Amino acid sequence: MAEFTMELNDDQKQVRDWIHGFAADVMRPAAAEWDEREETPWPVIQEAAKVGIYSLDFYAQQFFDPTGLGIPMAMEELFWGDAGIALSIVGTGLAAIGVVANGTEEQIGTWIPQMYGTPDDVKVAAFCSSEPDAGSDVGSMRTRAVYDQAKDEWVLNGTKTWATNGGIANVHIVVAVVDPELGTKGHASFIVPPNTPGLSQGQKFKKHGIRASHTAEVVLEDVRIPGSCLLGGKEKLDERLARAHERARSGGGERVKNAAMATFEASRPAVGAMAVGTARAAYEVALDYAKTRTQFGRPIIDNQGVAFQLADMRTQIDAARLLVWRASWMAVAGRPFESAEGSMSKLFASEVAKKVTAQAVQILGGNGFTREYPVERMHRDSAIYTIFEGTSEIQRLVIARTISGMPIR
Ligand SMILES: Cc1cc2nc3c(=O)[nH]c(=O)nc-3n(C[C@H](O)[C@H](O)[C@H](O)COP(=O)(O)OP(=O)(O)OC[C@H]3O[C@@H](n4cnc5c(N)ncnc54)[C@H](O)[C@@H]3O)c2cc1C
Repeated sequence: MAEFTMELNDDQKQVRDWIHGFAADVMRPAAAEWDEREETPWPVIQEAAKVGIYSLDFYAQQFFDPTGLGIPMAMEELFWGDAGIALSIVGTGLAAIGVVANGTEEQIGTWIPQMYGTPDDVKVAAFCSSEPDAGSDVGSMRTRAVYDQAKDEWVLNGTKTWATNGGIANVHIVVAVVDPELGTKGHASFIVPPNTPGLSQGQKFKKHGIRASHTAEVVLEDVRIPGSCLLGGKEKLDERLARAHERARSGGGERVKNAAMATFEASRPAVGAMAVGTARAAYEVALDYAKTRTQFGRPIIDNQGVAFQLADMRTQIDAARLLVWRASWMAVAGRPFESAEGSMSKLFASEVAKKVTAQAVQILGGNGFTREYPVERMHRDSAIYTIFEGTSEIQRLVIARTISGMPIR
């Protein structure tokens, strides 16, 4: 059995420093510009592709780190660089992981390269699940996928919202209802190939934060895609639906629900790590500022009122990282999330990021309130972490149900 250690090994430190270098040298200098432009930072994504950070291989290598710390470490460094640009870089990964997790070998081989493009011609991908009436309540999803047996095609109709890279993606992964009787178990995921007629971008949102990341509605009007674009294939879907109907008849749906929950518990720490990255970035700026800004003839950090805030900020960031690392390790070690430890890590880290970035603005005084200093942007960016991948209220709901076994509403 491996010796217990809380230190990264040499390989991990090397990867962390490499990503940190990219975040510091390429992302940081570009952050304010792309935030103001509110556009996808294509040149930065291209740079990331050239050095190997924008590729499926990069995620696969981090994902297969046996300690589980590869992904959280990468996310923390990228989001330390800049949250908006980082989301533009990792957004494709979220869609790609859906294909890798549920697709056939052929689907992975065909579509992943088209999601990323090449360093000379980069592309992005989008994962489209949320809808205007189905955010936290995924069971209210209305987008329908109907199979046209004569043509071996699926026909998609509906409106998706909040899709990162929605409408500008080369490949869209769309979740749709195939069997309304089964609720969330009647959902399936589809690959919508580039330039498919009927898919269009709706409203592009003007956002509070992470403005370099493109977020938009995706409208699907009689979108016809080949049968081969159903993730995992028709045979597997039919078997899964038959099993779900059987379980519904016998009242045994709990096992499927638990499997879905386990997937979320494993993916949520990655969002926690993003939040740790933004919080750490703001804390570092505030610490530096507090040591150099002089008022009343001494650095402002000489006041306990300021120093204690920094002490609390640092303590909470470290606590958040430990929760994230614990949950990430549990996921690879196959440990059961008996207290919803994945949700805990996302809840705590995202709340810490909001709090710490607000404190950083306060420590910088008037300067913190201007766009001349990055903490203003980091504070706006941090607000996303308590919203996407399950809001803080939904995390609390999951934790409360898990620890109590009660159907808390
Ligand atoms: C910038 C951005 C990027 C995103 N990217 C994607 C993406 O790429 N793909 C995708 O599919 N989705 C994406 N999302 C959608 C995101 O996951 C949803 O916004 C989120 O799940 C919340 O859904 P909602 O906005 O409909 O809020 P609602 O579900 O309407 O919630 C509104 C409020 O009510 C609270 N609430 C709801 N139900 C309960 C309850 N039972 N108990 C207590 N409180 C409750 C919520 O916590 C929240 O405070 C993105 C969102 C944003 C803002």
